[in-house]
Amino acid sequence: MATRKTGVCAFCGKKAADVRLLIQGLDAQICDSCAEQAHLIVKEQFNENRMSSGMKGYAIKKPLEIKNFLDQYVIGQDEAKRTLAVAVYNHYKRLSQKVDNDEVEIEKSNIILVGETGTGKTLLARTIAKMLNVPFAIADATVLTEAGYVGEDVENILVKLLQAADYDVPATERGIVFIDEIDKIARKSDNPSITRDVSGEGVQQAMLKLLEGTVVNVPPQGGRKHPEQKMIPVNTKNILFIAGGAFDGIDRIIASRKRTNTIGYGSTNGEALDKENMLQYLAPADLKKFGLIPEIVGRLPIITHLNPLDKEALKRILTEPKNAIVKQFVKLFAMDHINLVIKEEVLDYVVEKAIEFKVGARGLRSIMEAILNDAMFEMPSDIKAKELVVDLAYAREKLEKSGLSKLHVGD
Ligand code: ADP
Repeated sequence: MATRKTGVCAFCGKKAADVRLLIQGLDAQICDSCAEQAHLIVKEQFNENRMSSGMKGYAIKKPLEIKNFLDQYVIGQDEAKRTLAVAVYNHYKRLSQKVDNDEVEIEKSNIILVGETGTGKTLLARTIAKMLNVPFAIADATVLTEAGYVGEDVENILVKLLQAADYDVPATERGIVFIDEIDKIARKSDNPSITRDVSGEGVQQAMLKLLEGTVVNVPPQGGRKHPEQKMIPVNTKNILFIAGGAFDGIDRIIASRKRTNTIGYGSTNGEALDKENMLQYLAPADLKKFGLIPEIVGRLPIITHLNPLDKEALKRILTEPKNAIVKQFVKLFAMDHINLVIKEEVLDYVVEKAIEFKVGARGLRSIMEAILNDAMFEMPSDIKAKELVVDLAYAREKLEKSGLSKLHVGD
């Protein structure tokens, strides 16, 4: 390609003298402004293709397929998976709905996941986003404050999504946002007249707008709004929000509601409650009682819970998921041509410790890390090292030596 001083643009017919630049092709020329336009057309076309192929992709993933996909990464939590699978399927059906005349408009259904920390809430949301290949962002509700106070404005939730989408606004507008620790912005009491926690309520009001669907002016670099910054308008109408929280103590709220309900029917009629897992009886009323404003609860109509992980589930988490922790360590060692063998008894030991330290699934990796750290430090420099067999004695020795055994397991 070369630029020329003579000739005409084959697209707009302007002469070389009338344009800034004329680019020479094989047997025609194009001027700078036509080239620029062509570039824009190409970009637009690609965006459209991406959108429509994306939509097709959503349409063919049936709830069962979504669940099967989740099964590869997340252990247990069947009821949450089924609920999520249906919700996500319906969400993307809603996005592909044509405007027709029957006036039935499918409304958005945001989701709330309730379950102890480390039971897989974030993992579920992340895995769904991975499957759908849509932008995904995690926002932490605890840092949010009302506009004008110290902390982050609610708009910042969308900054992360916009960044995850590489500032592609149409893609952002079909993304998924996981709002973690939504329980932390609850009012301290469901009776607003007593210990009214105004700030919590203010954040909830601000968040409500996002959930409902609105055009938000997003500061592209995040942070505080300042006048010089150019805002990007983002419509949240089609963004799927998945909120998650542990809601510590909600089991008592559920239990007391259940008890009150059953009294009227006489105690013999009352169903036997599974006290170990009260979350299975969770209802919107409990979330309100916990301190979410009714409007927020209304905008998170799909409620599901995650079960606490038992020993067996923790053990499976170590080995079964596609990128299970043990698989990851085996791979790390293999990269140094070392065959890592972890005995079954070690898996049981790691699980026991995770339970003892009360760190659940979150702590499994740290415990494995503590056991293998010496080997990972020494073995790469040892040319004779070909194999590491980790048995119970080895694991115990390494873990006891590490700081972890003193209970300082963080995440
Ligand atoms: P939460 O959001 O519920 O607090 P996460 O999803 O962040 O918990 O879980 C923390 C980590 O623990 C995950 O990254 C994953 O490694 C592991 N984990 C938790 N629950 C599960 C599960 N059900 N299946 C597989 N791994 C899990």
